[in-house]
Amino acid sequence: MNKAQIFEFFRRLAEDNPAPQTELEYGNAYQLLVAVALSAQATDVGVNKATRALFRAVETPQAMLDLGEDGLKEHIKTIGLFNSKAKNVIALSRILVEEHGGEVPDTREALVKLPGVGRKTANVVLNCWFGQETFAVDTHIFRLGNRTGMAKGKTPDHVEAKLEKRVPQPFRRDSHHWMILHGRYVCKARTPECWRCKVADLCSFRKKVLEPPKGRTPLETDAD
Ligand code: SF4
Repeated sequence: MNKAQIFEFFRRLAEDNPAPQTELEYGNAYQLLVAVALSAQATDVGVNKATRALFRAVETPQAMLDLGEDGLKEHIKTIGLFNSKAKNVIALSRILVEEHGGEVPDTREALVKLPGVGRKTANVVLNCWFGQETFAVDTHIFRLGNRTGMAKGKTPDHVEAKLEKRVPQPFRRDSHHWMILHGRYVCKARTPECWRCKVADLCSFRKKVLEPPKGRTPLETDAD
Protein backbone atom coordinates (compact mmCIF):
# COMPACT_ATOMS: atom_id res chain seq x y z
CA MET A 1 0.00 0.00 0.00
CA ASN A 2 1.27 3.45 -0.81
CA LYS A 3 0.89 6.62 1.29
CA ALA A 4 -2.32 7.76 -0.38
CA GLN A 5 -3.89 4.30 -0.01
CA ILE A 6 -3.03 4.14 3.70
CA PHE A 7 -4.60 7.56 4.22
CA GLU A 8 -7.73 6.47 2.38
CA PHE A 9 -7.85 3.18 4.34
CA PHE A 10 -8.11 5.01 7.67
CA ARG A 11 -10.32 7.76 6.28
CA ARG A 12 -12.94 5.15 5.38
CA LEU A 13 -12.71 3.26 8.67
CA ALA A 14 -12.92 6.57 10.57
CA GLU A 15 -16.02 7.57 8.63
CA ASP A 16 -18.14 4.90 10.36
CA ASN A 17 -16.60 5.26 13.80
CA PRO A 18 -14.93 8.67 14.34
CA ALA A 19 -14.12 8.11 18.04
CA PRO A 20 -13.30 4.43 18.50
CA GLN A 21 -12.79 3.04 21.99
CA THR A 22 -11.37 -0.14 23.41
CA GLU A 23 -14.12 -2.67 24.15
CA LEU A 24 -12.60 -3.33 27.59
CA GLU A 25 -14.50 -1.69 30.45
CA TYR A 26 -12.61 0.41 33.03
CA GLY A 27 -13.04 3.53 35.12
CA ASN A 28 -9.46 4.71 35.65
CA ALA A 29 -5.88 4.12 34.50
CA TYR A 30 -5.27 1.39 37.07
CA GLN A 31 -8.38 -0.55 36.08
CA LEU A 32 -7.41 -0.23 32.41
CA LEU A 33 -3.96 -1.62 33.17
CA VAL A 34 -5.46 -4.57 35.05
CA ALA A 35 -8.07 -5.23 32.34
CA VAL A 36 -5.43 -5.26 29.60
CA ALA A 37 -3.15 -7.52 31.65
CA LEU A 38 -6.07 -9.93 32.14
CA SER A 39 -7.00 -9.88 28.45
CA ALA A 40 -3.93 -11.79 27.19
CA GLN A 41 -5.27 -14.87 25.39
CA ALA A 42 -8.81 -14.03 26.49
CA THR A 43 -11.66 -12.12 24.87
CA ASP A 44 -12.64 -8.60 25.93
CA VAL A 45 -16.17 -9.89 26.54
CA GLY A 46 -14.87 -12.55 28.94
CA VAL A 47 -12.65 -10.05 30.76
CA ASN A 48 -15.51 -7.54 31.12
CA LYS A 49 -17.76 -10.21 32.64
CA ALA A 50 -15.18 -10.89 35.33
CA THR A 51 -14.08 -7.31 35.98
CA ARG A 52 -17.53 -5.71 36.38
CA ALA A 53 -17.88 -6.95 39.98
CA LEU A 54 -14.13 -6.74 40.64
CA PHE A 55 -13.90 -3.08 39.61
CA ARG A 56 -16.93 -2.15 41.72
CA ALA A 57 -14.92 -3.35 44.73
CA VAL A 58 -11.39 -2.42 43.61
CA GLU A 59 -10.45 0.97 42.18
CA THR A 60 -6.85 1.31 43.37
CA PRO A 61 -3.71 -0.81 43.70
CA GLN A 62 -4.00 -0.62 47.49
CA ALA A 63 -7.56 -1.96 47.36
CA MET A 64 -6.27 -4.84 45.20
CA LEU A 65 -3.62 -5.64 47.82
CA ASP A 66 -6.33 -5.55 50.48
CA LEU A 67 -8.42 -7.98 48.42
CA GLY A 68 -5.43 -10.31 48.15
CA GLU A 69 -4.47 -12.97 45.62
CA ASP A 70 -7.13 -15.50 46.65
CA GLY A 71 -9.86 -12.86 46.60
CA LEU A 72 -8.75 -11.77 43.14
CA LYS A 73 -8.72 -15.36 41.87
CA GLU A 74 -12.35 -15.76 42.94
CA HIS A 75 -13.27 -12.85 40.64
CA ILE A 76 -11.21 -13.87 37.62
CA LYS A 77 -11.38 -17.66 37.69
CA THR A 78 -13.38 -17.71 34.44
CA ILE A 79 -10.45 -16.11 32.56
CA GLY A 80 -7.70 -18.26 31.04
CA LEU A 81 -4.39 -18.40 32.92
CA PHE A 82 -6.06 -16.78 35.93
CA ASN A 83 -3.55 -18.18 38.44
CA SER A 84 -0.51 -16.53 36.89
CA LYS A 85 -2.49 -13.40 36.00
CA ALA A 86 -3.61 -13.03 39.63
CA LYS A 87 -0.01 -13.33 40.81
CA ASN A 88 1.10 -10.66 38.34
CA VAL A 89 -1.73 -8.26 39.18
CA ILE A 90 -0.95 -8.48 42.89
CA ALA A 91 2.78 -8.03 42.23
CA LEU A 92 2.28 -5.05 39.91
CA SER A 93 -0.15 -3.46 42.39
CA ARG A 94 2.49 -3.73 45.10
CA ILE A 95 5.07 -2.02 42.87
CA LEU A 96 2.60 0.76 41.99
CA VAL A 97 1.99 1.39 45.69
CA GLU A 98 5.63 1.16 46.77
CA GLU A 99 7.36 2.86 43.84
CA HIS A 100 4.81 5.03 42.05
CA GLY A 101 2.66 6.47 44.83
CA GLY A 102 -0.27 4.27 43.74
CA GLU A 103 -0.34 5.85 40.25
CA VAL A 104 0.09 4.22 36.83
CA PRO A 105 3.29 5.55 35.21
CA ASP A 106 3.00 7.25 31.82
CA THR A 107 6.15 5.89 30.17
CA ARG A 108 6.67 2.63 28.32
CA GLU A 109 9.97 2.13 30.11
CA ALA A 110 8.29 2.11 33.55
CA LEU A 111 5.23 0.16 32.44
CA VAL A 112 7.14 -2.78 30.94
CA LYS A 113 9.00 -3.23 34.22
CA LEU A 114 5.71 -4.22 35.89
CA PRO A 115 5.09 -7.98 36.19
CA GLY A 116 2.97 -9.34 33.33
CA VAL A 117 3.10 -6.06 31.39
CA GLY A 118 4.62 -6.40 27.92
CA ARG A 119 5.08 -3.88 25.18
CA LYS A 120 1.57 -4.40 23.81
CA THR A 121 -0.12 -3.86 27.18
CA ALA A 122 2.01 -0.78 27.80
CA ASN A 123 1.08 0.60 24.37
CA VAL A 124 -2.65 0.14 25.04
CA VAL A 125 -2.41 2.01 28.36
CA LEU A 126 -0.29 4.80 26.85
CA ASN A 127 -2.73 5.19 23.99
CA CYS A 128 -6.11 4.76 25.67
CA TRP A 129 -5.40 6.58 28.92
CA PHE A 130 -2.51 8.91 28.25
CA GLY A 131 -3.44 9.77 24.67
CA GLN A 132 -0.08 8.84 23.17
CA GLU A 133 0.27 7.77 19.53
CA THR A 134 1.27 4.18 20.21
CA PHE A 135 0.50 1.09 18.13
CA ALA A 136 -0.47 -1.89 20.26
CA VAL A 137 0.00 -4.82 17.88
CA ASP A 138 -2.30 -7.66 18.88
CA THR A 139 -3.26 -10.69 16.81
CA HIS A 140 -5.78 -8.66 14.74
CA ILE A 141 -3.38 -5.84 13.89
CA PHE A 142 -0.60 -8.31 13.11
CA ARG A 143 -2.88 -10.12 10.66
CA LEU A 144 -4.29 -6.94 9.11
CA GLY A 145 -0.89 -5.31 8.71
CA ASN A 146 0.37 -8.36 6.83
CA ARG A 147 -2.73 -9.12 4.77
CA THR A 148 -3.34 -5.60 3.54
CA GLY A 149 0.32 -4.92 2.86
CA MET A 150 0.25 -1.81 5.04
CA ALA A 151 2.76 -3.14 7.57
CA LYS A 152 4.26 -6.48 6.69
CA GLY A 153 6.43 -8.08 9.35
CA LYS A 154 7.39 -11.41 10.84
CA THR A 155 6.93 -10.29 14.45
CA PRO A 156 4.59 -7.85 16.22
CA ASP A 157 7.60 -5.57 16.81
CA HIS A 158 8.32 -5.42 13.06
CA VAL A 159 4.68 -4.60 12.31
CA GLU A 160 4.66 -1.94 15.04
CA ALA A 161 7.79 -0.31 13.62
CA LYS A 162 6.23 -0.15 10.14
CA LEU A 163 2.98 1.31 11.46
CA GLU A 164 4.99 3.90 13.40
CA LYS A 165 6.58 4.94 10.13
CA ARG A 166 3.61 4.73 7.79
CA VAL A 167 0.37 5.73 9.55
CA PRO A 168 -0.33 9.40 8.80
CA GLN A 169 -2.04 12.11 10.83
CA PRO A 170 -4.81 12.64 11.77
CA PHE A 171 -5.22 8.89 12.24
CA ARG A 172 -2.19 7.93 14.32
CA ARG A 173 -3.81 8.06 17.75
CA ASP A 174 -6.87 5.95 16.88
CA SER A 175 -5.48 3.74 14.12
CA HIS A 176 -4.94 0.73 16.33
CA HIS A 177 -8.60 0.75 17.44
CA TRP A 178 -9.85 0.86 13.88
CA MET A 179 -7.53 -1.99 12.92
CA ILE A 180 -8.56 -4.14 15.90
CA LEU A 181 -12.26 -3.61 15.19
CA HIS A 182 -11.82 -4.25 11.48
CA GLY A 183 -9.85 -7.42 12.24
CA ARG A 184 -12.34 -8.60 14.84
CA TYR A 185 -15.53 -8.04 12.84
CA VAL A 186 -14.58 -8.07 9.13
CA CYS A 187 -11.03 -9.20 8.36
CA LYS A 188 -11.45 -12.31 10.50
CA ALA A 189 -8.69 -14.84 11.01
CA ARG A 190 -10.24 -17.87 9.36
CA THR A 191 -12.41 -16.27 6.70
CA PRO A 192 -11.90 -12.59 5.96
CA GLU A 193 -15.23 -11.10 4.88
CA CYS A 194 -13.78 -9.28 1.91
CA TRP A 195 -17.18 -9.29 0.22
CA ARG A 196 -18.36 -6.60 2.67
CA CYS A 197 -15.02 -4.92 3.37
CA LYS A 198 -15.03 -1.19 2.67
CA VAL A 199 -11.28 -1.09 2.06
CA ALA A 200 -11.10 -4.15 -0.23
CA ASP A 201 -9.95 -2.10 -3.24
CA LEU A 202 -6.98 -0.78 -1.22
CA CYS A 203 -5.93 -4.13 0.25
CA SER A 204 -3.29 -6.24 -1.42
CA PHE A 205 -4.25 -9.62 0.10
CA ARG A 206 -4.05 -12.18 -2.69
CA LYS A 207 -6.61 -14.61 -1.31
CA LYS A 208 -9.55 -12.25 -0.87
CA VAL A 209 -12.87 -14.00 -0.17
CA LEU A 210 -15.24 -12.10 -2.41
CA GLU A 211 -18.37 -14.23 -1.90
CA PRO A 212 -19.86 -15.22 1.46
CA PRO A 213 -19.56 -18.97 2.07
CA LYS A 214 -22.84 -20.82 1.46
CA GLY A 215 -25.35 -20.46 4.27
CA ARG A 216 -23.98 -17.10 5.47
CA THR A 217 -25.54 -13.75 4.81
CA PRO A 218 -23.49 -10.71 3.83
CA LEU A 219 -24.50 -8.92 7.03
CA GLU A 220 -23.23 -11.37 9.60
CA THR A 221 -21.17 -9.49 12.16
CA ASP A 222 -20.12 -12.03 14.78
CA ALA A 223 -16.63 -11.35 16.14
CA ASP A 224 -13.78 -13.76 15.49
S1 SF4 B 1 -10.18 -7.09 1.62
FE1 SF4 B 1 -10.28 -8.92 2.88
S2 SF4 B 1 -8.17 -9.31 3.49
FE2 SF4 B 1 -8.28 -7.18 2.81
S3 SF4 B 1 -8.70 -5.95 4.64
FE3 SF4 B 1 -10.67 -6.41 3.70
S4 SF4 B 1 -11.36 -8.27 4.73
FE4 SF4 B 1 -9.14 -8.09 5.10
